[in-house]
Amino acid sequence: MRHALSALAIIAMSGTSAFAQRDFDQVEIKTTEVAEGVYMLEGAGGNIGLSVGADGAFVIDDQFAPLSGKIMAAIAEVTDKPVEFVLNTHYHGDHTGGNEAFGEAGAHIVAHDNVRKRMKEQNILPDGSTAPPSPDGALPIITFSEAMSFHWNGQDIRVWHQSAAHTDGDAVIYFKDANVVHMGDLMIN
Ligand SMILES: [Zn+2]
Repeated sequence: MRHALSALAIIAMSGTSAFAQRDFDQVEIKTTEVAEGVYMLEGAGGNIGLSVGADGAFVIDDQFAPLSGKIMAAIAEVTDKPVEFVLNTHYHGDHTGGNEAFGEAGAHIVAHDNVRKRMKEQNILPDGSTAPPSPDGALPIITFSEAMSFHWNGQDIRVWHQSAAHTDGDAVIYFKDANVVHMGDLMIN
């Protein structure tokens, strides 16, 4: 009986911290081209958006830190250009975990003003757990309040803030010419 109870307790505990318990070694990154030069990368955590072309790679969200090497390798499969920008749709750790590694590799991290603010503070996550402040190297260095645009890889990439949504710093990204939208966790499929 004792054993049965402790097994249940472990299951209950791992349920609340599924991300921490996940074995990232088992994760494979799956790349899908959704429009010319625009890809979706699936691994663990929020799906990654990727624009490639003559200007360089533009990445939307970067999942968890232990996956950065695999994500970079998957990007290198479709482009030989460096990652110039990483845009975070919101501050959650399954969308910003790779920021530090991508920043160190030369990418400029971009996000809404409140993403930077939240990442500098201790955060309460949706499952009730807390996340410590992010290291300086992971913080967005370009931030916006309402909207911004990138004119990159032959695309007009519109970015706007969706207020009062999944967090207080959600961004929606629209690739106008490719007619592709990345909504972060505003739409979980
Ligand atoms: Zn989220």
